[in-house]
Amino acid sequence: MTRTKVALVGIGKIAIDQHVPALNASPDWELAATVSRKGSVPGVPAFTDFATFLAERPDVPVVSLCMPPAPRFDYAQAALLAGRHVMLEKPPGATLAEVHALTALAAAKGLGIYATWHSRMAHAVAPAKAWLKDKTIKSAHITWREDVRKWHPGQDWVFEPGGMGVFDPGINALSILTEVLPRPVHLTKAILEFPSNRQTPIAARLTFSGQVTADFDWRQEGLQTWDITVETDSGSLALRMGGNVLEIDGKAVAGESTIMGEYPALYARMAELVRTGTSDIDLAPMVHVADALTLGRREVTDAFQF
Ligand code: NAP
Repeated sequence: MTRTKVALVGIGKIAIDQHVPALNASPDWELAATVSRKGSVPGVPAFTDFATFLAERPDVPVVSLCMPPAPRFDYAQAALLAGRHVMLEKPPGATLAEVHALTALAAAKGLGIYATWHSRMAHAVAPAKAWLKDKTIKSAHITWREDVRKWHPGQDWVFEPGGMGVFDPGINALSILTEVLPRPVHLTKAILEFPSNRQTPIAARLTFSGQVTADFDWRQEGLQTWDITVETDSGSLALRMGGNVLEIDGKAVAGESTIMGEYPALYARMAELVRTGTSDIDLAPMVHVADALTLGRREVTDAFQF
């Protein structure tokens, strides 16, 4: 089978941790180039400028954009205008409007665009969705507590406008919630804790319609928690390990306690989109984040330094 050439753009933590291993293990893809001002991947032709890459490598039909969300629009737009299919890391952009613009541009050019949500590919998300399909939801709660210093070491962009703060991981939980609940919910209240020296929240407590609540905190050291619990008319469900393990009434019934299946599944999906010339853009998780930032009550907390 011929492998499709892809360029990885923005060689940093997630590109090295997940994208490169997923591409190297895939029968569908050949990592044909990187574009990054400082980063590179051994053995792969490296560009430091995106326009130069687009001009010099018309043989690469797909680009996968791994830089932070704020600068991503310009790269995605340039790629689409140059006739390339585009894969976007999560969150797909800095604003909803810019992702709508990219979606329209991709459609006009007949190209595929994929707003990836890696947590939706976690091992237990599909079985959880199937189990909840015909249940009445009584309540649900998200606990997403992790250590920003461990997962975003020195990445000041997460605390700059467009970086989304604790919603950078929290949107993963919302991507699962919006996938598995049989009916949509909407945000009704949010309390956001901003470090006194930062532009984005480090913690958030959210309330949604339908007795759904969420607790996001980026200050948790030691044990990290990525759990979603759902009470229904016929039993309780828990998704643990970021959606990778499913428990029903306290007993593990599906999944695997590893996150390593998520990026291979994203690239398999992107291969399908390129083959069929279609797009996959669901902005539901980002709508909740935008609503929280619109409706949220701001509380100022201790200054934060990496
Ligand atoms: P990162 O390491 O800070 O950034 C990735 C790379 O993007 C950087 O190495 C940099 O490469 C490039 N970059 C940074 N700022 C840029 C700018 N203003 N313009 C152009 N390129 C720029 O971030 P990351 O942790 O990989 O996260 C990137 C994306 O992946 C985010 O959307 C994040 O939510 C998502 N993600 C991260 C994780 C995680 O665990 N960290 C997990 C899942 C998803 P050069 O300096 O070499 O150009």
